[in-house]
Order: sequence, then structure tokens, then C-alpha cells
Amino acid sequence: MELPIPEPAARVIERLYSHGYEAYAVGGCVRDTLIGRIPNDWDVTTSAPPERLLTLFDSPLFKAIPTGIAHGTVTVLSSGEAVEVTTFRVDGEYSDSRRPDKVSFTSSLGEDLARRDFTINAMAYSPRCGLVDLYGGRADLDNKLIRCVGEPERRFSEDALRILRAPRFASVLDFGVEDAAASAALRLRGRLDLISKERISSELAKLIGGAGVSRVLCRFRPIIGTILPELMRDEYDRAASYVGRLGGSPIALQLAALFYGISPETARGALTRLRFDKRTCSRTAMILSHIGANPASKSDVKRLASEVGTDCAGEIIALGELCGTASPECAGYLGEIRENDECISVSGLKINGDDLLALGVRPKQIGSLLSRLLGEVIDGRIPNERQALEAFIRDFLQA
Ligand code: ATP
Ligand code: MG
Repeated sequence: MELPIPEPAARVIERLYSHGYEAYAVGGCVRDTLIGRIPNDWDVTTSAPPERLLTLFDSPLFKAIPTGIAHGTVTVLSSGEAVEVTTFRVDGEYSDSRRPDKVSFTSSLGEDLARRDFTINAMAYSPRCGLVDLYGGRADLDNKLIRCVGEPERRFSEDALRILRAPRFASVLDFGVEDAAASAALRLRGRLDLISKERISSELAKLIGGAGVSRVLCRFRPIIGTILPELMRDEYDRAASYVGRLGGSPIALQLAALFYGISPETARGALTRLRFDKRTCSRTAMILSHIGANPASKSDVKRLASEVGTDCAGEIIALGELCGTASPECAGYLGEIRENDECISVSGLKINGDDLLALGVRPKQIGSLLSRLLGEVIDGRIPNERQALEAFIRDFLQA
């Protein structure tokens, strides 16, 4: 079988072969290519030792960056693209459920594939040797199944992050998880406490964006409860179905759906604990704090957009529509506001502070008067036109 490998990775593989080493595309890129998805990145596994990688790719066509040399990884820049090249590796004992105590290098591709988490991630491919599939990854891809390489209990105990990676891949690929793996993951879920919050949030972020997310959130609820006990409440299944209907949305909106019915401050606290970035934490809390705003009219939508910006308003409306707190017309209203660049901020008014001063408004009153004008325009009581705005100010000054 022949797989299309992009030029930069193909050149790296070819150079390694031409110097007498074995080299293969491996892991996620092989998996994704086999199912017609575009891989995020291309990883190469090779029999060449790490120091050799540095010299082999120190050439006019390539550049080698020793990004993880202790673990055998060198990032090779090939035609401007980064290709991660790692020497065939065996992981030593895992005494902490996190990282192998030490890694050692090997000349056996089979040993390197054996350390990988799931069968679908344990395939290698090179144009010279074709597909190397020692664990039935191809069949599992066809059957849409996540299965561990080896015995699930042992594999999840070695590295507890795999407990979350199983549901992550099940969600992203919309696959099932083999029963033995699912029950071992559920049973060992407490070990996720040993894993760094950054690694957990990175898997969780991918999980909630997946096509199978609702189903996965329900089946693996106890695992989610281990990392986010705040979510364990009556509305959990409903929230899971909302998340599932927001595929492709920004992460904060998906998280807000997951935290549906939970206070913005609790959500912010939970996400901060998991080390989500500040913007995501604030944005999620912002969406949740406006979910009861119940926008119905175009003026409501303008007011909302004026307060939080059009992007955030769009997210609040999207979730509001799902949970029935925003009328179905709101998204259309927001579209019109954007398209016609309708006034939703003081800076969009066809009058400014200098104009008000010229009309005789006292400096202290400028700010509050501009806000008041904005309110009148948003509510449609005055058009956003210079003359009408001036007339309003004159009336105000005479009153
Ligand atoms: P993605 O599309 O998200 O990049 P991926 O499968 O490439 O998915 P990575 O986290 O980039 O996932 O890891 C690359 C490969 O390294 C995996 O396909 C798998 O073979 C191996 N791998 C990664 N993490 C683990 C782990 N915790 N345990 C065992 N093998 C792992
Ligand atoms: Mg990857």
C-alpha cells in the first residue's frame, strides 16, 4: 500500500535511508492519513542515534534543532516545515504513572511501536517498506475502535495520561473504546491526579471539540468527574449534549456549554486550576455570566454586543439558543449588526466629545451624555445621524 507523504517528511525519511538507517512516518500522521484526515504534524521514527541526527541534518537543505535530545528527539526543518524525528526508543520502568524512569534507544522498530499507547497510533510507514502494523491498528481503524497496545491495566498504570487519551481519541475520531480498555481506564481514573494539569487540559480541550464528544462525556463521566468534580450535577448529560452540538466552535464556548448551569466563578476557578489560559478562563466565565440575559429583540442583541463585543455576543447567543434562553432570531440580528456595522459603541456614534463641547456641554458631562446617546441609538429612539444627535443634545441643554 502506498500513502501520500508530504515532501518535507519524505525527504527526511529518504536521507536517513540513504545513509543506511531505517526511517518511518509514525503514529498520528499514519493513522490520520489512513482515514483521510489531514495530520496535525509528521513524526518520523528512525534507527539513527540522536547524535547522528544532528550531523545528518546539519546541511544546506535541512536544519536540526535538538528539541528533546535526551529522549532522542530532534526537530528537523525540511523545506521550511518542522518534522519531529525520534530515535527508536524503549521506555524503561514507570514508577510514578507519569514518565518512564529512563528511556533507552533500540535498533528495533517493533520495540518502538510497542511503547505506543493505542493500536491505531502504533503504525509506521515508509515508502520503501510500506505499512508496518504489528498490532492490528488498521483493522481497529476500520472497526472504529480504540484498543491499547498490550494489556490495558498495565499501559494505563504506566502513564495515567493515557486514561484521558483513550476518551480523547474516541471523541475526536468518533470511535468506540474496547471494553477492556474502557473499564481499565475507568477503574484507574484516580491516577490522573498524578498528571500535570497542563497535559490534562490539553487532552480535555481536544476531547470536547470532537465529533463524538456527547457520547464520550457520558460513557466516561467518572473520568471527567475526577478532573472536574464541579461538573458532577444533574444537568451533566444535558450539558454534554450541548457541547456535542457546538462542534467547531471556539474552546471557551464549548467549555461554557460543559459548565452550563454552574456559576461563572466556579467555572473560572476550575479552569484556572487546570491551567487553561487566562483568556479562555475569562471568556468562559463571561459567556456563563450572560447566559441568563435572554436576548430577544435586536436592541437586546445590540446591548449585549455593546457590553461584551460582537464575537462574545455571538457565543452567548449560540449557547443561549441551545438552552432556550435566546430567541432564535438573535443570531440573525447579530449578523445584520455586523454586516451593516451598526452602532454599538460610543466610538460608533456620529458625534463625539468635541462636538458635544462645541454645543455647550460641560466637560464633566461628556462621558455620561455619550453613553446616554448610545443607549438611545441602540434602543432605536434616535437614528445614528449627526442632526438627530445634535437635536437631542440641544433639547437636553435646554431642559
Ligand atoms: P494528534 O493528532 O493529536 O497530534 P497524535 O497521535 O499524533 O495525535 P501525539 O500526542 O502527537 O498524538 O503523539 C504522537 C504519537 O506518540 C502517538 O501517535 C503515539 O504513538 C505516541 N504517544 C503519544 N503520547 C503517548 C503516551 N502518553 N503513551 C504512549 N504513546 C504515546
Ligand atoms: Mg501528533
